[in-house]
Amino acid sequence: MRALVKRRPESGLWMEEVAAGVVGPNDVMIRVRAASICGTDLHIWDWNDWASRTVPLPLVVGHEFEGVITVLGAEVNGLAVGSRVAVEGHVTCGHCRNCRAGRRHLCRNAVGIGVQRDGAFAEYVVVPAANVYVMPPDLPEGLGSCLDPLGNAVHSALSFDLVGEDVLVTGAGPIGLMAAAVARFVGARHVVVTDVNSYRLELARRMGATLAVDPTASSLGEVLERLGMAEGFDIGLEMSGSPAAVHWMLDAMNHGGRVALLGIPDREIPVDFDRVIFRGLTLKGIYGREMFETWYRMGVMLQGGLDITPVITHRFPAARFEEAFAVVRSGQCAKVVLDWGPE
Ligand code: NAD
Ligand code: ZN
Repeated sequence: MRALVKRRPESGLWMEEVAAGVVGPNDVMIRVRAASICGTDLHIWDWNDWASRTVPLPLVVGHEFEGVITVLGAEVNGLAVGSRVAVEGHVTCGHCRNCRAGRRHLCRNAVGIGVQRDGAFAEYVVVPAANVYVMPPDLPEGLGSCLDPLGNAVHSALSFDLVGEDVLVTGAGPIGLMAAAVARFVGARHVVVTDVNSYRLELARRMGATLAVDPTASSLGEVLERLGMAEGFDIGLEMSGSPAAVHWMLDAMNHGGRVALLGIPDREIPVDFDRVIFRGLTLKGIYGREMFETWYRMGVMLQGGLDITPVITHRFPAARFEEAFAVVRSGQCAKVVLDWGPE
């Protein structure tokens, strides 16, 4: 099969002919239809410190995808050949305390599809049947490749009760954009999105943000005044990983505010904990998606009218992957999807 492979410990990804994976008794094989590019894939392409510590070579990359089941392992129940599916990318151990308690998103031994085992930038991928999510019918074609990052957004946003609250989202990358849409969908009042990228601020408006602002051009005071807000935000969703955004967020929170931290900083962020302590803030780290509560909740919201389609801004046939990665690097995009056929 054709696959996008990290072959050598240097910058690059290479389209190669490789053997498809072997289907174990508890696995399924999936014919990949659409796969979207994530920041993690850029790190693997670049072969930064994190990638060189984490990724075994050679590796088929890619973890955000949808496809159709083509083979069922001998022990698999409850799934069918031909079903349209998306896949939870964290393969959990099943024997640590959190796994045994049903909190699989907190597994301490999780292995990432397309990061530590072969992934989905390929015609076929083999995954544990337990990771498969059968998609609700009638979702637009390709949208399944956005369910992994939508799950990050939903996990973050639904960590807190947003009904009637004022929500600040820092970072209008694909995840921040979808989090803004989710916050509006579940009944937040004002949803303010910040980013330094004007293309993405425009998308934030399309996704339902009350206000989309560049924090280097507008002060917090101006934002609060424009919205008639006296005190500050109740809920913060940090989705940039930027130290400046974290500081903006902590300044913007009302006393008793609750903050979900999803963005991954590339360095240590100095934090004045006085602001956290005296304002009585709650900070919650978010990793991945809750298995599988997040998946059920996002499926129901999508069926109930949550519209995330504007987040797919570009599609390329897989063979044009170099152009697709260049668009992701430009930042003039949200989700960029690779189509894997069948042609
Ligand atoms: P992205 O990198 O596309 O988006 C981040 C956005 O933050 C960019 O649009 C950037 O312009 C913006 N930004 C930069 N400086 C800013 C500032 N000062 N104020 C406001 N915005 C600023 O990323 P994404 O794919 O949407 O992911 C969001 C973040 O979540 C990334 O940091 C990513 O690494 C992380 N992530 C975490 C998990 C998890 O499980 N915790 C999973 C996936 C991604
Ligand atoms: Zn575990």
